[in-house]
Amino acid sequence: MADPVDEALKLIQSKPEGVLQSELWKELGVDSRKCSRIVKKLEEGGLIERSEFRKDGIKTFLLRARQLPVNPGDLLAGDELIPCINCELECLVEECHPLMDWMYQLAIVQHTE
Ligand code: SF4
Repeated sequence: MADPVDEALKLIQSKPEGVLQSELWKELGVDSRKCSRIVKKLEEGGLIERSEFRKDGIKTFLLRARQLPVNPGDLLAGDELIPCINCELECLVEECHPLMDWMYQLAIVQHTE
């Protein structure tokens, strides 16, 4: 079974506009008390921000993922920098050959490490 803390984080990260805490517990399939503990853990870990929000006059919290600094190592496949940096192509990610080549290189590097 998936870790509910990870599940909650993924869900919050997938919604840049944020998630209401009053809806998060329903989406996770946990009760509101357990959801509060999950949210507290994520907030204390610096992974999300929580701000007061009123919906239909009822107080809840808006949860948003924090922007974390990118690890520069994640942009490299060996010595090769991800092609998206300074890319001037019209972006169609699903059909991008430079990106596919880079990901192939990344797979080779990770396989040989
Ligand atoms: S996915 Fe391809 S086209 Fe899009 S920014 Fe990256 S390299 Fe450029």
